[in-house]
Amino acid sequence: MCGIVGAVAQRDVADILVEGLKRLEYRGYDSAGVAIIDNNELLSAKRLGKVQELAQALAEKPLAGGTGIAHTRWATHGAPSEVNAHPHISNNTIAVVHNGIIENHQALRTRLQGLGYEFLSQTDTEVITHLVHHELKTSDSLLAAVQKTVKQLEGAYGTVVMDSRDKDSIIVARSGSPLVIGYGLGENFIASDIMALLPVTRKFSYLEEGDVAQISRFEVNIFDLNGEPVEREAKEANVSH
Ligand code: GLU
Repeated sequence: MCGIVGAVAQRDVADILVEGLKRLEYRGYDSAGVAIIDNNELLSAKRLGKVQELAQALAEKPLAGGTGIAHTRWATHGAPSEVNAHPHISNNTIAVVHNGIIENHQALRTRLQGLGYEFLSQTDTEVITHLVHHELKTSDSLLAAVQKTVKQLEGAYGTVVMDSRDKDSIIVARSGSPLVIGYGLGENFIASDIMALLPVTRKFSYLEEGDVAQISRFEVNIFDLNGEPVEREAKEANVSH
């Protein structure tokens, strides 16, 4: 289980995301990637090796946009490679980062292939990406599609999902792999560890097992395992850097 950072803001977030990944490097990882929504389009960059390689790629070809997700991967399914690095993308619209292991990925992969989805990676994670895309066809929101998706997942996940057609929010879900929401002023964040977000906020609330949340710039809505709205107490972090 490795690192996740996400942001919904009005300023460009690529640097915040990469700095967050650097602050999670101590956990070890084999590759890193980022996806950002720019004008209803997903832009992404991935690199095998150090976060610095990703930072270099972004320095050469910057990605602008205020909504984005980033990941450092510790491969469990599929070799360490650029193709297997997260974020994974379905139909140029749904982007996903995931920490953990989806135990029933093979059955889901077979089903999704039957529905016409083409897999580009060897990861277990890619099933989440296509499943959200599929569920969205019969859902009235990305939140509802993610809620339907996580009910079908067996295993451990901390996951963040975004849709290029909606830059105003990201959806996050936690089961067996920690996620923490970071609250800013007119911007909000998600990460697998508060360390990633200390440069941008000190106010955090941890998601509990089974929680799914919609994070927007001015609002955070959290739902429990049963889909009921819940509050998760926000606390000031008492750490120095
Ligand atoms: N199981 C996923 C993969 O192999 C995520 C690994 C991780 O937690 O970094 O891509």
